[in-house]
Amino acid sequence: MTKNIAVIRGDGIGPEIIAQALKVLDRIGEMYGHTFTYTDVDMGGCAIDKYGDPLPSEMLEKCLASDSVLLGAVGGNKWDTLPGHLRPEKGLLRIRAGMGVYSNNRPAKIWPQLASASPLKAEIVQKGIDLIIVRELIGGIYFGEHKTEGDRATDLLTYTEAEIERIGRIGFETARKRRKKLCSVEKSNVLDSSRLWKKVLHRLAEEYPDVELNDMLVDNCAMQLVKDPSQFDVIVTENMFGDILSDEASMITGSIGMIPSSSLGAGSCGLYEPIHGSAPDIAGKDVANPIGTILSAAMMLRYSFDMSAEADCIENAVSAYLDEGCRTADIMSEGCRLVGCTECGDIITANLKR
Ligand code: NAD
Repeated sequence: MTKNIAVIRGDGIGPEIIAQALKVLDRIGEMYGHTFTYTDVDMGGCAIDKYGDPLPSEMLEKCLASDSVLLGAVGGNKWDTLPGHLRPEKGLLRIRAGMGVYSNNRPAKIWPQLASASPLKAEIVQKGIDLIIVRELIGGIYFGEHKTEGDRATDLLTYTEAEIERIGRIGFETARKRRKKLCSVEKSNVLDSSRLWKKVLHRLAEEYPDVELNDMLVDNCAMQLVKDPSQFDVIVTENMFGDILSDEASMITGSIGMIPSSSLGAGSCGLYEPIHGSAPDIAGKDVANPIGTILSAAMMLRYSFDMSAEADCIENAVSAYLDEGCRTADIMSEGCRLVGCTECGDIITANLKR
């Protein structure tokens, strides 16, 4: 298969971590007979320096013309004093809106080798944590009317059946590619929008008889995530609940440098990026952890290109790297071997096995 990937190296550690992910993708291409071609896209601070714009429209066009987009990170102190519309992060908002990605998917997985990094008790972690939160990204209370009148402030929470259905489908499709368990999180004991959410999710369930659907109230879900996260496979929820729960879920895994994410819309073209920022404090030092980006590339293979075996291959190579006791500085612990960003990419590439 041939796939054209738009590559946004961005700022700070972005170019270093992206270089490692491309090395892994190239090797996967050789091993499985695929051709990955890369189109460089300038976005963020580097685009401001070049064009005076964090995401010129021709750059967005390149992303829309690609099969998927792989993003490092954008931003840095150099651009912090610019007005809002010229900040690097504006590029992020514009690319998400421009690509129409209404679903943000963030896995929270504990690597057994890094179990001690989790703030949860060992007996909880030992049961395993491997879940994905599918969050509706462009609707709900964040996009409703906001107004303040005198001593009263209002934020409007609205969802239509169509908006719920399209994110619900992503939840079912994601679960179908994993352990086939979907937990729909809402507040249907109080909110009309949640009762509509629940109704639509149950209607959709009839189309996915192979996926087990259960409902959970959001307050209970927040509790269950720290009490027994092993019970979850895929969680699907609305924008604000997902915002809060996905931060809670990533925290329980313990390491920001390890976590990938995907954002998907109607088609198969997605936006894949690690959850961390451009880490200007360590940029250019070859010490960043590239695993969040490498795993984002694996998500791209699994969810946009339907290449599950290739995605498994990358995840197994990361696991083997951790088994060997290799660690970048952010996850270093006693008895392990300290490696830099490039060496980490080299070892994971060498560990790729069919
Ligand atoms: P950050 O995630 O960049 O860094 C937070 C801390 O985590 C730093 O100490 C950093 O060194 C460390 N860290 C992050 N990623 C790491 C990695 N892969 N390996 C090792 N250590 C890592 O967050 P911040 O410092 O708040 O933000 C820095 C810049 O990034 C800001 O300009 C911010 O706006 C931007 N940002 C961009 C994105 C994005 O591109 N999606 C997301 C968040 C923040």
